[in-house]
Amino acid sequence: MTKIYDTIIIGVGPGGLTSALYASRANLDVLVLGMELGGQLMDTDIVENYTGVGEITGAELADKMYADSLRYGAEHIMDMVATVKVEGNLKRVYTVLGEVYEAKTIIIATGTEYNALGVAGETDFSGKGVSNCFTCDAAFFKDKRVAVVGGGDSAVEGAIYLTQFTDDVVLIHRRDELRSEPINQDRLKANDSIKVLWNTTVMTIKGETNVEGLLLHDEVSGLIYSKKVDGLFVAIGSKPQLSYLDHLGVDINDGGYIRVNEYMETNVEGVYAVGDVNNTPLKQISTAVGDGSIAGQQIYEYLN
Ligand code: NAP
Repeated sequence: MTKIYDTIIIGVGPGGLTSALYASRANLDVLVLGMELGGQLMDTDIVENYTGVGEITGAELADKMYADSLRYGAEHIMDMVATVKVEGNLKRVYTVLGEVYEAKTIIIATGTEYNALGVAGETDFSGKGVSNCFTCDAAFFKDKRVAVVGGGDSAVEGAIYLTQFTDDVVLIHRRDELRSEPINQDRLKANDSIKVLWNTTVMTIKGETNVEGLLLHDEVSGLIYSKKVDGLFVAIGSKPQLSYLDHLGVDINDGGYIRVNEYMETNVEGVYAVGDVNNTPLKQISTAVGDGSIAGQQIYEYLN
């Protein structure tokens, strides 16, 4: 007979791992499904705004969270979810490896995926100079010319991170004002290795086999010009990818995020959502961890 879990957690970032810790510590039968342990923590160099740990690398915090999530008996399987269906009171989770798992509740914790610029060359040069992950790829650009596009914390922190490897970094932003936190803006201003191109957009990424340059548009003067670079990091935000939930009827807002109440409940009974995937205004490790704690505890209340 197929085992019926109390909850299946889909996603292994801070929200999912904390849900697993809370639910298993409440003696629930927990299965966690997901491949990229730590989620976007793995793309983070130093975490310095998660209370209690001072400064820690994203990878180190991910390791600790993963170990904690399994400490009270939660099971983890490296697999990805293809689709989820509700059948009566049961949730059936179908995976890309062809398995089917069943649970009384599920927690959606799949976070977000990077937005693409949508310009010529972006897909062709992916992995050949175009990247979204600073901690994965910055070291390939030692002493090279690198551009970063975006004006949020990911772009600004990423540009600063790159200056460990090269002193030729250009940050390209479409407006004349950054969106990132003031502390990051101060660090950017103080960093002589980064030049900012304001009111500028990327029109095309050029090159033969690898990135060799960009065609840029100055939105104020209207000037279109070329700039030689060896790489481009695209850091223009991210969005949840939720097509695997199409059969569930989960309520999703206009921005593409899952609507939850204060207990992390969606509109579908027994389906919860935590972390960056949901409609909370602040997307942080701490908020994902808070969501995960609430959902783990709430499922215990719901099942009892
Ligand atoms: P974000 O805050 O949404 O910023 C995206 C940036 O990309 C914005 O500056 C936006 O420009 C620009 N952009 C969007 N679409 C574009 C396009 N098609 N072409 C050119 N530029 C485009 O995304 P994020 O930086 O990834 O941050 C996401 C969330 O994570 C935020 O809440 C952020 O604070 C948080 N975060 C926190 C930390 C930290 O606490 N240390 C680190 C990283 C991220 P406009 O400004 O003109 O809209």
